Amino acid sequence: MAPGVPFLREVREECGVFGIWRHPRAVALACQALYALQHRGQDSAGIATCRPGGPLVVEKGNGLVAEVFTASRLARLAAVGPAQAAVGHVRYATTGGSRPENAQPLLFTTAGVPFALAHNGQLVGSEGVRAWLRQRGVRFTTTSDSEVLGRLAEQLAPGAGDGEGVARALVAALERVRGAFAIVALTPAGLLAARDPRGIRPLVLGRLGPAWVVASETCAFDTIGAETVREVAPGEWLWIDDAGPRAGRLEAPGEVPGESARPAFCIFEYVYFARPDSRFGGRSVYEVRKELGRRLAREHPVAADVVIGVPDSSLPVAAGYSEESGIPHEPGLVKNRYVGRTFLRPDPRARAESVRIKLNPVPEVVAGRRVVLVDDSLVRGTTVRRLVRALREAGASEVHLRIAAPPYLHPCYYGVDTADREELLAARHRVEEMRRVVEADSLHFLSLEGMVAATGQPLAAFCLGCFTGRYPVSPEVIPGPVPDVAGVPAAGRAPASGREDVPWARS
Ligand code: SF4
Repeated sequence: MAPGVPFLREVREECGVFGIWRHPRAVALACQALYALQHRGQDSAGIATCRPGGPLVVEKGNGLVAEVFTASRLARLAAVGPAQAAVGHVRYATTGGSRPENAQPLLFTTAGVPFALAHNGQLVGSEGVRAWLRQRGVRFTTTSDSEVLGRLAEQLAPGAGDGEGVARALVAALERVRGAFAIVALTPAGLLAARDPRGIRPLVLGRLGPAWVVASETCAFDTIGAETVREVAPGEWLWIDDAGPRAGRLEAPGEVPGESARPAFCIFEYVYFARPDSRFGGRSVYEVRKELGRRLAREHPVAADVVIGVPDSSLPVAAGYSEESGIPHEPGLVKNRYVGRTFLRPDPRARAESVRIKLNPVPEVVAGRRVVLVDDSLVRGTTVRRLVRALREAGASEVHLRIAAPPYLHPCYYGVDTADREELLAARHRVEEMRRVVEADSLHFLSLEGMVAATGQPLAAFCLGCFTGRYPVSPEVIPGPVPDVAGVPAAGRAPASGREDVPWARS
């Protein structure tokens, strides 16, 4: 998805994170990495940095990376000095809204030790933990669930004392929350990276000379010339300091009756969110999307003259559909890459006009031809209906819509903004009714089995909640205490005062 006009797509990703320890150009590299991760969030961007053992400085604001990191902001970060570490974040606001104070990284201080937290994902039932913290006199400055994590860490390690103590407290906090998280936290002594026990959101580890890097996607590593080492495993934490990474496992708090502790990677990362030049699970996102297209062509062939993908994420799918069907693939929709943020969240009429500003058919490609229009998802159906109309106005004789995923029937609770269930087209209509709503000549979806098979991984490896309604972490509020926490990093258990019962989500 292009930076600047996220509203045009109906599914929006939440955030991207990056961390580096340590490199003399840490700030510049973090900024470059955030450019590469911009597709994961356009509402705000931020970087926190410090010299090892030194003070922690953060610069952040609402807007794209290019808008936030002005020369003066970069100069203030660079003034911290050489041989630095940094964490960076790009945000698309779901929980907490787009208030400027919700921009990340968020800064905290525990027993005089500062730390900066960057979080991708969404906690389930964080309101209960927030209420519990409020009862203990904690004051919140944002509406973000990421602050809940940081404040919980502050409570769990009131006497942390050093960077590793902060890391232990953060791990203890992560063990007491539920939901999706990939976090990177910077302390003056090292960097903590961790992924939720089901690995719903991605996080990868890389190397850049002597420096270590972590990021939401490998495309960030390519951009800065780093080499991918491996993915951070579901439920794994890494403490990275000058001695290198040290790994441990979170004690999974999700051992709740009815919940599965198996890995459950968000399959939509392959289908839509991630950049096609990223890799997960040893598979190129581009290759997976192309295979989605091949399978879509096998499952739902149609007599047509041209295959057109909706730019950008559906272009590899359209290439795969074309390869399998033998129908030529042509760039029949031109995308305007220069539409600015002025067009964000306009009223419905402006939104309708914006489709033509952003995507316009090429009459020479579509006039008098039967078009297969390939897209990666169908959520509300409003955007695709405008595209179908635009193709007809440009002269298409038929428009056959093919979707590279099954019908989107249920909302996401793990940091992806889709829509409420009542807004989901597939939740209210059968396929034939949906076809009429979007005004296509035919409409077909890739099967769940076909989508999973395209990844080359088993069904059990994925979260498929928005298609099946079966969620790896129950979205229901589950009252009750969090079990005692063992296995905190390095020095062992959290202080006794940090092991009292904490509610997950007390309503
Ligand atoms: S519910 Fe859907 S969008 Fe959300 S994490 Fe699961 S697969 Fe991804």
